[in-house]
Amino acid sequence: MQHHHSGETVVTMSRSLMATQWAARLLVVAVLCGWSGVSRAGDAGGVSGVDNSVPASVQAFSAAGRSNAAIEGRRHIAALWAESGWHLVKAGEYDRAARAFTVAKELAPGEASIFVGLGVSAHRRFRDDLALAALEHALQLDPAIGQAHALLGDVHVRHGALSAAVRHYDAAHRQDPNDVTVQERLLNARQERDVEARFDRLLSPHFVVLYQGEGTREVAHEVAERLEAVYDEIGRMHGYFPDETVTVRLYPEEQFRAATLTPAWARALFDGRMHLPNEGIRTSAETRDRMLKHEYVHAVVYRLSGGHAPAWLNEGLALFGEGGASAETGDLLARHAGDLEPLSSLHGSFLGRPQRAASVAYAESGAAVRLLIQRYGFAKVRRLLEELSSTSDMQKAFERVFHERYRDFDRRLVSSQGGRG
Ligand SMILES: [Zn+2]
Repeated sequence: MQHHHSGETVVTMSRSLMATQWAARLLVVAVLCGWSGVSRAGDAGGVSGVDNSVPASVQAFSAAGRSNAAIEGRRHIAALWAESGWHLVKAGEYDRAARAFTVAKELAPGEASIFVGLGVSAHRRFRDDLALAALEHALQLDPAIGQAHALLGDVHVRHGALSAAVRHYDAAHRQDPNDVTVQERLLNARQERDVEARFDRLLSPHFVVLYQGEGTREVAHEVAERLEAVYDEIGRMHGYFPDETVTVRLYPEEQFRAATLTPAWARALFDGRMHLPNEGIRTSAETRDRMLKHEYVHAVVYRLSGGHAPAWLNEGLALFGEGGASAETGDLLARHAGDLEPLSSLHGSFLGRPQRAASVAYAESGAAVRLLIQRYGFAKVRRLLEELSSTSDMQKAFERVFHERYRDFDRRLVSSQGGRG
């Protein structure tokens, strides 16, 4: 019930913009310290020691007028900002990366690779509207920039537009036939597109429900109708009503296992789309609604956090959204209070665990989220998701939002469950 991250996109800068390492490091420091010349008010996101002074070298170049030397100088400084942008992308600091690329863009508005940088940082923050604009612009400046095509492929995959994704991956592949990550993404997108071609589709305002055959048309209707209600209910809980549709695939149980490679204990899966077995919908109204709420919370968390929420937070929120833990989970937790895992070891998917270990991990996740909500309120937990959309560093995001050390919260959780603390 976890989602996978798409493959890392490796982007290289054009040679003319390569900067010397030491100077780039200086500028990284400038950006990390929060030089916020381009950030909007309230955009600083908890940056400590914000310093509005413009680096002296940049001031000197701005003052130097429009001579050739000054233009070269601006390009050079732009290259340094872009370089620090790439460092920040690598470090998972996407807000700051976007700011660095924005400065670079002002200085060198004709450099396509800077727009690719803006596109990456927007895509990682789930601002695909901005990503699309930046990447299309990069292609206008330099139609041969394959990285822009590869990223546009990623953007379209995320929104289920598989044919458009295939077109862009194909273009990227033709630009650089040796890039194996692009090749892999192209193959995946083609495969997914061909799989989806075998489904029938039903559209509701916020969902695209894919199903197979007239026999399941009724189930598809039921799912779409229930999901619209879930959209409102979970939307009110999170204060979030996204416009983009979520894709849902319905399968017979056997095909569901084959398509998702989930262990038998997993009821459903969210990996950017919702994958649901028909049988799970048909068991009982209560099971159906719990499952739909659970998976839809994953869709909300995925979008709000930019796909960066650790598994325990994601699953804990999904359990909370379902309508609370069952008595069964409470018992389980009581029996296993002595061997709760540190939260930091519950960041990756639970799908690889055997059933018993997975149940304990889910129970602990549920307890952690309940404690978090009890201590700080739901709005703050929602704030944590937003914080995660601009950084993939959970510890940092946690401490920025709650002003409590992640480790200390972990200890508090263990002692709240009567475990050894
Ligand atoms: Zn789940």
